[in-house]
Amino acid sequence: MEWLSDEERFSAIEENLKIINGSISECAVLSGRKPEDVRLMAVTKTVESRFINHAINHGINLIGENKVQELLLKQPELTECEAHLIGHLQSNKVKIIVGKVSTIQSVDTVEIAKEIGKRSVEAGINTKILLEINSGNEESKFGFLPEEVFEKACEISEINGISIDGLMCVAPICENNAQIRKIFSNIHQLFIDIKDKKMDNICMNILSMGMSGDYKEAILEGANLIRVGSSIFGMRIYR
Ligand SMILES: *Cc1c(COP(=O)(O)O)cnc(C)c1O
Repeated sequence: MEWLSDEERFSAIEENLKIINGSISECAVLSGRKPEDVRLMAVTKTVESRFINHAINHGINLIGENKVQELLLKQPELTECEAHLIGHLQSNKVKIIVGKVSTIQSVDTVEIAKEIGKRSVEAGINTKILLEINSGNEESKFGFLPEEVFEKACEISEINGISIDGLMCVAPICENNAQIRKIFSNIHQLFIDIKDKKMDNICMNILSMGMSGDYKEAILEGANLIRVGSSIFGMRIYR
């Protein structure tokens, strides 16, 4: 690993953001949309606050953290910025995260949705949630199976204090480009099918899919929010 000075890391972040924003524009247009139709989230796990603030100063307006504790620790040091939770949430942490993020992207059971609803009502607020989809049907992974998500969405839509704002997925490791695109395209279709049902309290505004390794494929298949960490903050330097 190459050790860089803060100054070198600051300029790497700027350079990386330019490259990623260029790719977002290109892929958005290729998929028949405008560059501004795809939102870039900077995933900030393990990243120190000064680097996150640098990204915020260079156009990032949404950050994502995986862990409740890490988010709460850094938040006081950060320039004002919308934040989402994107990592698996345990029910004993719900009380402390509600009100600190605008959206919880990683809702993977009806039970956790109920707990978020209960704590949001207590706090007098509404929390937006995304339903996490287990796109690869891997046993070890979190999320609803594609075939059960509509039924679960209907159940969750009855809960006070939360509103369903879309879907999120972490794609499995794929052998090739065609395979990953097929997975993203299936989730996009699921998103459209649920949207077409026009159910009360189920909005399909956000389709959160794509990370450093696969965000271009995700945009080409309809993602409107991508979650990028290492390609922004990582140590890669283009010499
Ligand atoms: C870490 C993480 C990301 C970003 O991953 P990179 O490969 O570093 O871009 C996105 N989504 C989730 C849920 C993550 O945990």
